[in-house]
Amino acid sequence: MAQIVCPSCGAANRIPPGRDARAARCGRCAQAAFPAGPLDVTGAALGAHRAKTRGTALLLDVWAPWCGPCRAMAPQFQAAAAQLEPQVRLLKLDSQAEPQAAAELGVSGIPALLLFRDGALIDRKAGLMSADQIVAWTRQALARA
Ligand code: ZN
Repeated sequence: MAQIVCPSCGAANRIPPGRDARAARCGRCAQAAFPAGPLDVTGAALGAHRAKTRGTALLLDVWAPWCGPCRAMAPQFQAAAAQLEPQVRLLKLDSQAEPQAAAELGVSGIPALLLFRDGALIDRKAGLMSADQIVAWTRQALARA
């Protein structure tokens, strides 16, 4: 059974087989448990998603406001979400606001994409990518893992 983390309250929510996570309401706070589009996360929120998300991959974009290529990739990442959800949940971590979290992930160059499944990092890639490239890379990495 898949399990996702509510972005509003942090509660873990189980998604029964055959149910679309995007339609799920959080059992604790009744907010949408899987709203469309990338979610901005803190280091702590990222830790909760990694610890409690099961059966849904997490694709994290590490970026910073001062980084031109990061800003150029933001709409591409947003467009990729429409193609990858709900198999993959897309997250964004601002490395300027959360430098310790970015350092713990071993991120040096940004933008950087990190792909997690069931808590584990399965692949990573740095540099500007188009939406199609993000989708293709993610699908290939999940197929290999
Ligand atoms: Zn909630």
